[in-house]
Amino acid sequence: MLITDKMKQFIFITFTLFTLGFSLTEKRVVEIQFDQLFQLQQLVEMGIDLDHHRTLTEVHAFVTDAEFKQIQQMGFEIKEIPNQAKLYFEELKKSPLGSANPMEDYHDYNELTAFMQDIANSYPDITRLESIGQSVQGRELWVMEISDNPGVNELEPEFKYVANMHGDETVGRELSLYLIEWLVDSYGNDPRATDLINNTDIFIMPTMNPDGFENGSRYNAHGTDLNRDFPDQFSDPNNSTLGREPETRAVMEWSWGHNFVLSANMHTGALVANYPYDGPSSGVYSACPDDELFIHISLAYADAHPNMESGGFSNGITNGAQWYSISGGMQDWNYIWEGDCDITLEQNEVKWPNSNQLAGLWEEHREPMLVYLEEVHDGVRGIITDEDSGEPLSANISVQGIDHDILPDPENGDYYRMLTPGTYTITAQAFGYLPQSETVTVPLSGYVEQNFQLNVDPWLSEADIEDFEIGVFSDLGWSFSGNANWQTDNSEVFEGNYSGKSGSIDDNEQSTVSITLDVVEDGQIS
Ligand code: ZN
Repeated sequence: MLITDKMKQFIFITFTLFTLGFSLTEKRVVEIQFDQLFQLQQLVEMGIDLDHHRTLTEVHAFVTDAEFKQIQQMGFEIKEIPNQAKLYFEELKKSPLGSANPMEDYHDYNELTAFMQDIANSYPDITRLESIGQSVQGRELWVMEISDNPGVNELEPEFKYVANMHGDETVGRELSLYLIEWLVDSYGNDPRATDLINNTDIFIMPTMNPDGFENGSRYNAHGTDLNRDFPDQFSDPNNSTLGREPETRAVMEWSWGHNFVLSANMHTGALVANYPYDGPSSGVYSACPDDELFIHISLAYADAHPNMESGGFSNGITNGAQWYSISGGMQDWNYIWEGDCDITLEQNEVKWPNSNQLAGLWEEHREPMLVYLEEVHDGVRGIITDEDSGEPLSANISVQGIDHDILPDPENGDYYRMLTPGTYTITAQAFGYLPQSETVTVPLSGYVEQNFQLNVDPWLSEADIEDFEIGVFSDLGWSFSGNANWQTDNSEVFEGNYSGKSGSIDDNEQSTVSITLDVVEDGQIS
């Protein structure tokens, strides 16, 4: 058969429409039975979306028709179950909403926006409303900052709560609004709220996935699970926003503009506090270097809840991977790349409960949410400066015995290292400075202060330094090779105004910079 150009075009267009239609098809909710943990890992390796519900013999998941068949062929018992969240969503859509009273209905996007704007207008001295970006369908990604000096980077730890990244997990979305309202209402009346707001920079994001909520779906409007879209230490160790969803990019860039110390993201579908790491193998405990700290802060939440300990998990907490492994989750990203201790809170077995339960859920979760927020003040903190100039330094803070360093806030040099009570050796180290170590004892509650004034390493005063600050590569005898030359750059810097940057290259290309030095006497090259 002859295929004319017109026919090709026709074939191409139908194909495009077909793929578009397919990708937007809602996945089915299923229950899959298994006997052995390795079978759970088989499901993880298939790349299907496992849901939060899992026991020793069954797990819930979202699957396409093709995945359904494949799982069946692998010998699993699999059956479709009702999508409770979707059913309640349909019911809500039928009933007239329009009430901005958080005691009654869920806030849809417009009501949530109005609620946030109303709070910002009523409490301008202690709040600042910001949109950190837009969702796929153009909805604002609202963040409420609550602080005694909103918008000012103070010498205080920064904390964040992020909710509703799974659009059909709605409890945290409403609890966020309750918490915002409680904090601003109680400021000046309740000593606890006043203390928190005076001494903490609090950020609350009620929904990271407004499109998902509006569509009654776990996924964003591109059909992506946002809690699988972050850089991952095992499968995607590239801390870049390239190729990620707009909602993920917005959260990453917002986090880069801050120095968050502690955070949590709120989900539903189980009742448990889940802490890093989330991978690599399901059913196998995967401890991060701060395991003891994560257990401590997760227990703080669970212990303050009236019945979290009866949610089917020992003491109401679990290691992420031991429960079921995921890749691209937000909590591991926060911890590994941002130095921010993040846990995943599963706040209710039912994903999208009837709105008449919300007031009761707030009663249960208020104390845990406050206790967890207060944890940000525990550990060791201080300011790192240059001994001579008093200028803040971007020094590395390490704790002997815990292989996880953190950085201070670059603007003020203030650092917050969360630690469980005990005695520790802390070292501050900055390039060109002599490292300084101190022994501190973290009290049972609260923090110990330890400042560092670092001295310039005498070696540095005699050295020739290339800092690219003259804006061209001419200071030393650099040579270039490969497909593109290196350049100096003033858009991204470590310090000063310039940095060195590789040329722009494609796959299988190179951009090389090198230098040959004649060493005439003993010394160091660094
Ligand atoms: Zn979730």
